[in-house]
Amino acid sequence: MLVSKIREQFPILGRTVAGKPLVYLDNTATSQTPRRVVDAIVDMYTRHKANVHRGVHTLSQEATDLQELTRRRVARYINAESHEEIIFTRGTTEGINLVASSFGSLLPEGGEIILTVMEHHADIVPWQLLAQRRGLKIKVVDIDDSGALRLDSYRALFGPDTVMAAFTHVSNVLGTVNPVREMTAYAHEQGVPVLVDGAQAVPHMRVDVRDLGVDFYAFSSHKMYGPAGIGVLYGRREFLDSMPPYQGGGEMIKHVSFDGTTYADLPFKFEAGTPDFVDIAALGAALDFMEETGIEAIAAHERQLLEQATAGLMEIPGMHIYGTTPGKEAVISFNVEGIHNYDLGMLLDKQGVAVRTGHHCAQPLMERLGIPGTVRAGFAAYNTPEEVDAFLTALRRAVDILRP
Ligand code: PLP
Repeated sequence: MLVSKIREQFPILGRTVAGKPLVYLDNTATSQTPRRVVDAIVDMYTRHKANVHRGVHTLSQEATDLQELTRRRVARYINAESHEEIIFTRGTTEGINLVASSFGSLLPEGGEIILTVMEHHADIVPWQLLAQRRGLKIKVVDIDDSGALRLDSYRALFGPDTVMAAFTHVSNVLGTVNPVREMTAYAHEQGVPVLVDGAQAVPHMRVDVRDLGVDFYAFSSHKMYGPAGIGVLYGRREFLDSMPPYQGGGEMIKHVSFDGTTYADLPFKFEAGTPDFVDIAALGAALDFMEETGIEAIAAHERQLLEQATAGLMEIPGMHIYGTTPGKEAVISFNVEGIHNYDLGMLLDKQGVAVRTGHHCAQPLMERLGIPGTVRAGFAAYNTPEEVDAFLTALRRAVDILRP
């Protein structure tokens, strides 16, 4: 994988911040976008823009074809059985809300939902809202000191009242990769359906929803080199078929009358209103980028950067890294003793290095770790060893300035 050839495709990487070349390491929050995705958006606006699915005219058909082509490509990319199992959403958050709200309405009162302590708020709050509405209980799987999920605790939480398990594929703080196949198989043995938050997995590893065996899998386009504002919910047909609509409106109906309304077939039953067809079409260009570069090559490259960065960080006195499981994803969260994560982030920014600071929308995990937040650096296909060096140099400088 030639990183220079990849970098050429990302115009934003050419800019400076604080007079220094930008070193963008906030990829866990959102990745940057290759020119071909931007071009695909421009192409939609300048050549094909028309509302989808309702028009007989050429532009409407073109826009529809482009949107539906992406749906088929996404299905193939994650190995769904059918493109009808691919629901376009606003992102991971909306995908999980859809399941919690619609599938959740079918769950029996008094049931228990299993979550983990490493969940992003997007995979906690929708379940809490459901639990409050329908009298369900939430149980939480703990982690060990390395940041691995305690599988013994996971298994022990299942009981006769368990009705749902929802967990992340990859932690956005610890980088821990959860054994999704094994966890799903265990849940299924107990007759419990599974939702997986794939926001941090799809950009970094091969995801095959049928091999994993999951019932629902949600992810976001903007973290996988695609446009912001859209995402994907995969759901097994048998579940999606049985679920009531999430929102009502155009697109999701077969027939509307004041005597009663019938709903569209999958996937449209869950896509009320005009979808973001421009960005959906452009997501296809992001898949082009990922397929051309190769997800295995991206993963291997990111792993090298992770090793280099981890080794460099460990040399800094007072360094504490959160999440040290073998095979973790290319994201590092850390603190330096006596220094606030926010101050480090500010001083890194002054040197052109973009990292994220704070609780990373994982406050229960922060509480579990006994910290208010961390500095987080995450790597993408376009990052280089030189950037890792620049990050480490900038960090050492910041620590020297801030060390009490
Ligand atoms: N889940 C995880 C693990 C995440 O890292 C994120 C975003 O940071 C989300 C869910 C929410 O994604 P979005 O804001 O795109 O809906």
